Amino acid sequence: MKNVIQCISCKTNIANDRGSVKFLCPGCGKHEIIRCKKCRQIVAKYTCPECGFEGPN
Ligand SMILES: [Zn+2]
Ligand SMILES: [Zn+2]
Repeated sequence: MKNVIQCISCKTNIANDRGSVKFLCPGCGKHEIIRCKKCRQIVAKYTCPECGFEGPN
């Protein structure tokens, strides 16, 4: 299994993105959501693949 760290919204590799964030899904608390700096700035939507939670709202 590959350990690719990528933004959940735009799929950008965030290995070198210091502005990125990782947090557990507010809906199910199981899936780790990763967002890059850009998607945080433009408030891009994300959907948890585990439970379908849509954020950031
Ligand atoms: Zn992104
Ligand atoms: Zn979830």
